[in-house]
Amino acid sequence: MKKYSITKAAFRMYRSYNPKYFPLKFLQTFFDNISPYFNLWLSAEIVTELYEGRGRRELYTLVAITLFGNLFISVMGAVLKRTVAVQYEILENNQAAAFHHKTLSLDYDKIENPEIRQHRRKIKENSWINGYGVMCMQNQIQLLMKCIVNFVFVMALFIEMLSLIVTVGFQWIGLVLSVTMIACIVMVVLTQSWSIRKITLWNKNIGDLMLDENRIGKGYHPDGMDNRIYCQQGIISKLFEKICRQHLQVFSEAGNKDFAYALPMSLFYGLLEISSFLIVCFYCTLGAFPVGSVIKYVGFLRSIIQSVTDFFSAINTLKDNEIFLKVYLDYFDIRNDMYQGSLAVEKRSDKKFHIEFKNVSFRYAGAQNDALKNINISLQVGERLAVVGRNGSGKTTFIKLLCRLYDPTEGEITMNDFNIRKYDYRQYLDIFSVVFQDFNLLAVPLGCNVASASTWDLEKAEKLLEEVGFGERYDQMPKGLDTPLYKNFDQDGVNISGGEAQKIALARALYRDAAFIILDEPTAALDPIAEAEIYSKFDEIVGDKTTVYISHRLSSCRFCDKIVVFDNGRIVQMGTHEELLADETGKYHELWYAQAQYYTRTTV
Ligand code: ADP
Repeated sequence: MKKYSITKAAFRMYRSYNPKYFPLKFLQTFFDNISPYFNLWLSAEIVTELYEGRGRRELYTLVAITLFGNLFISVMGAVLKRTVAVQYEILENNQAAAFHHKTLSLDYDKIENPEIRQHRRKIKENSWINGYGVMCMQNQIQLLMKCIVNFVFVMALFIEMLSLIVTVGFQWIGLVLSVTMIACIVMVVLTQSWSIRKITLWNKNIGDLMLDENRIGKGYHPDGMDNRIYCQQGIISKLFEKICRQHLQVFSEAGNKDFAYALPMSLFYGLLEISSFLIVCFYCTLGAFPVGSVIKYVGFLRSIIQSVTDFFSAINTLKDNEIFLKVYLDYFDIRNDMYQGSLAVEKRSDKKFHIEFKNVSFRYAGAQNDALKNINISLQVGERLAVVGRNGSGKTTFIKLLCRLYDPTEGEITMNDFNIRKYDYRQYLDIFSVVFQDFNLLAVPLGCNVASASTWDLEKAEKLLEEVGFGERYDQMPKGLDTPLYKNFDQDGVNISGGEAQKIALARALYRDAAFIILDEPTAALDPIAEAEIYSKFDEIVGDKTTVYISHRLSSCRFCDKIVVFDNGRIVQMGTHEELLADETGKYHELWYAQAQYYTRTTV
């Protein structure tokens, strides 16, 4: 791999988020760093004027240049600081948007994939907690810019100083001091780069030992009710103390390692400053330059030292940061591999789409067992299908496969006799409307939520909201369909209850006018009787669409034409409510009587 190739690729990508940022930042760096040189140069001139007692006019001119020059530099610095801050925000926003867009554009199986979730978490942790990755790259590039600006001034002063020294000859004392200075610079740079390497590697490994309360337990939250009920405060405090102890131990070990490098480095640094000061004083006493220039050249040598150490620090840090940048770039390289298909889905007003599962099995990435096993079922046009079974029996997975959020691991699903993979993916998705258990409504106007578009058919949307039972609440909406949901972006937005949100989600499903409507327990938070009422009311509205109702509560779906019972990833029974109940040895019978005792209104 070429040197810094990862940094170069990441930089190109990062710069593209706002090409104006880096040139402006460079200009700002120039103005931020010019001031010490400008003042060093003028102070030297003023001290020499005073020492040599020349005319007042020259002195006043120098003071005036100093004042106005500093004023100009300060004003430019302030203007650029403001401009660069805005450009930085644009850059960061575009970067966050690109990251978000990448996540949104991933195939659904990738979104749920635990490794890819972990990958995303790592990027955020690297950057926000440890300050590595893109954030580190941008900090080090700024440091390099500073070094470039300093280098220009330092070279000018170096040539000036060298040309004055040449007039008196190098002298052996001067040579010894120069060699000492150069040797010290080398030692400072070496100890610094070793220390950076150690600290980066340590930071990479420490991720899991962060002072993170998540380590107390899976899904732990300090205001968890169970903590109170089971009086777990004592156990939790002890666990937290354990985390703090581990954390402190790791930090003090790292501190010791850091100290082992920092101590010799500061010794070399001190020696470096002394030798540079002695060099300037030595040549001044020989008359190579006036007294005023001592300030200038001591300052200049300090600046050389700082620039050299900054430069090596930046390039070493950039190199070590590549392991974190690679994690960032790799995320953008994740390819969608779901076959997109090209066969056009017929636009059928009669909605005659016949879907069949043929011996379909499915296993989630990294899972030990199949979530679905040998599923054989066909969905008849216009039928009401109920999918029932205990939690975890495979109902939602069945829907995910039906809507092609995942492809089967074995077997095939066909629509009108063609494998669904062959159909244009977008067009295939368009024939489904699904209301999932954890549906999402957006903080946009109500109409936009119902239509899933920025324009909507007013009459149709209002009619559907009325039909799903949202009518009364709709009448209170200050701006009708234009009323924003939630107050995230608009103080005039309205907050809605969970039940109201469900009704909007149902209206959204109907608005799409898709051939298939699927309700995947969006009513799970309601009591069984309310759920049964919503399901049967919804059934009156859906018309000729093929509808799939999912529930772990059998009573909600008894009105359906066909009921499919899932158990442990398999279809164990299929039939009407009456047929299934008649089979006393069947799963449906067992579940029905296990549940019936809870619903007095729905018992047989
Ligand atoms: P149901 O909808 O009947 O409650 P699911 O279809 O959600 O059941 O789950 C079926 C099985 O697949 C369960 O064992 C569940 O733990 C597992 N499962 C569901 N989603 C995932 C996932 N994204 N990754 C791995 N396993 C999953």
